[in-house]
Amino acid sequence: MKISKKIVGFNVANNESSNTANKEQSVAELAKATPAKADVIQMHETLQRPEKLIGSTYKLSVPEHVSSHAMYITINDVILNEGTEHEHRRPFEVFINSKNLEHYQWIVALTLIMSAVFRKGGDITFLVEELKSVFDPRGGYWNKGKYMPSIIAELGNVIEQHLTEIGMLQQPELDSTQQKLIDEKKAELAGDANSAQSTNADAPAEESWQANATHCSKCNHKAVMVRDGCATCLNCGDSKCG
Ligand SMILES: [Zn+2]
Repeated sequence: MKISKKIVGFNVANNESSNTANKEQSVAELAKATPAKADVIQMHETLQRPEKLIGSTYKLSVPEHVSSHAMYITINDVILNEGTEHEHRRPFEVFINSKNLEHYQWIVALTLIMSAVFRKGGDITFLVEELKSVFDPRGGYWNKGKYMPSIIAELGNVIEQHLTEIGMLQQPELDSTQQKLIDEKKAELAGDANSAQSTNADAPAEESWQANATHCSKCNHKAVMVRDGCATCLNCGDSKCG
């Protein structure tokens, strides 16, 4: 081949790009071979909002000093390809309501951006880890035995809970040996607590050991106990001794 012009760029020829006619033909063949696939609707930003969406509302009660009013998080889902084997439920939009106007502007910004991410399609589960990694420089707070680095991190937990409920996220399963270890240690601790607190039979054993537990840096639960010289989290099984 004679090169008569200056080379300004190049592409490596491969089977796909060498013959566009071929490519079109193969795409057509593929579509013919799998007619159902071609009709599958994927999440896309131009997808029209259906008249009716299914929603879930989560109440977030944060301590008084963090926010003077509760927050209500509503996540509306769209069901794509309903009634077919490709039926798929995905979040479509999110709203956050609170009487507390102190947080108003970032809440509006966050809900707009999260809704936009939902509607873009593709993998949206990264939002959970992004939100959960946000730390409030004024310090986090404790909520139901779990350390919350910030309100935004708690929103991440709500999104995680929702995505788990609609099947877009899987709950990380503990392996059987880890679960056995946790159960054993909990039983040991319950035994200790019962003998030490025989006068206070009303106190649940679980709470009495949790009072002495420290904060797990992996799952944020207040559930790390030192047993046999080894710090082990009795929630997620994280252990410093393997
Ligand atoms: Zn843990």
